[in-house]
Amino acid sequence: MKFDTQCVQGAYKPGNGDARVLPLYQSTTFAYDTPEQLADIFDLKDPGYMYTRLGNPTVNCFEEKLAMLEGGVAALCTSSGQAASLLCVTNVCNAGDNVVAMSKIYGGTFNLLNVTLRRLGIETRFVDPEASEREIEALIDDRTKLIFGETLANPAMTVLDFDKLAAIAHKHGILFAVDNTLATPYLVKPLQRGADLVLHSTTKYIDGHASCVGGAFVCGDKFDFTCNPRYPMFNEPDESYHGMRYQRDCGAAAFVVKARAQLLRDMGTTMSPFNAYLTNIGCETLHLRMQRHCDNAMRVAQMLQSHPAVEWVRYAGLESDENHANAVKYFRAGCFGGMVTFGVRGGRAAAAEFMKKLELIKIVTHIADARSCILHPASTTHRQLSDEQLVACGIRDNLVRLSVGIEDVQDILDDLQRALD
Ligand code: PLP
Repeated sequence: MKFDTQCVQGAYKPGNGDARVLPLYQSTTFAYDTPEQLADIFDLKDPGYMYTRLGNPTVNCFEEKLAMLEGGVAALCTSSGQAASLLCVTNVCNAGDNVVAMSKIYGGTFNLLNVTLRRLGIETRFVDPEASEREIEALIDDRTKLIFGETLANPAMTVLDFDKLAAIAHKHGILFAVDNTLATPYLVKPLQRGADLVLHSTTKYIDGHASCVGGAFVCGDKFDFTCNPRYPMFNEPDESYHGMRYQRDCGAAAFVVKARAQLLRDMGTTMSPFNAYLTNIGCETLHLRMQRHCDNAMRVAQMLQSHPAVEWVRYAGLESDENHANAVKYFRAGCFGGMVTFGVRGGRAAAAEFMKKLELIKIVTHIADARSCILHPASTTHRQLSDEQLVACGIRDNLVRLSVGIEDVQDILDDLQRALD
């Protein structure tokens, strides 16, 4: 199947007389005739279901679709994008271990790494994505377990240099994890660009309708934990799971099986079947929506660039943008995503005034759904930061983050034009 067909029909194959739509198994548990049958499931000898915290037919089918779309071998859905990041880190890091992360990433991920995981003894060493190979390598030691970045950073809009980071990670035998939320596999499949793990907040474009919070990660088939001294937890027997050795027993799916067996079991950050059901329906139109988001965002970025009330625009599709070359190198031809950031001339007050004048485009703490929406980070998500701290995060006080929807582009342009005028 090609990508577009995978979006629509991937993973779920109805048998004769079965429901045409992936059914919703809204059940916590599953019934068996004998204790031995259930015991085989606990021992992972039988792939059946026992309890929805660990697996559910609706959720697992959606996971299969995501693995397909990202070109990976296995996926695991989580209750949110935050939970996906949490599980990816804690699947490989113990207290005393560290992560090397790009400094330009989503603020929630930054906090998770910098505050909560640090409190648990997992250190994150942040580095500017523009840093040289030598500067990044200087942060790596024998307790480094993950290199982490975002394909298209929210809201910094930087495009990840996959070649540079994959080369560094693999030279040192370290997993390279990429949050692909804003780009989606429609623009780029990080596993084909050297990443070993891909993460998503499925809350965003994958669902696309702002109806479900969710997350997921997908593992590729290239990273081999065998004999890698950084990751004994994949080679030594897991006494909490019948002595399983994840790399030996699960091969390329080791990362996902271990996360499910240990972390979904213990932390319970499971995607609900209803959210998997709805998110799967949203995902059926991912290919159509993403193309429209990209087309509309390009028109919007061009219009903003020429409006006198706009001080600056960041959109990788603009030839003048510093990320244009990387975006052209890595993204699907002519596609640059649906997010545009720009500065309103006149600073914080002017940005707020402009936003009050919008009618079609609503002010929301969200991005990446069918409806155009807008946010002023300095007065909302980042309001606790001083002007100096905002600058350090790459967020200027007049920065407006616009998530361009899939409405008729003329209506979006008219709304922006009227408010800016
Ligand atoms: N990653 C990125 C790039 C995001 O933009 C977000 C949320 O905005 C997250 C992760 C966290 O996802 P969630 O809100 O589903 O927990």
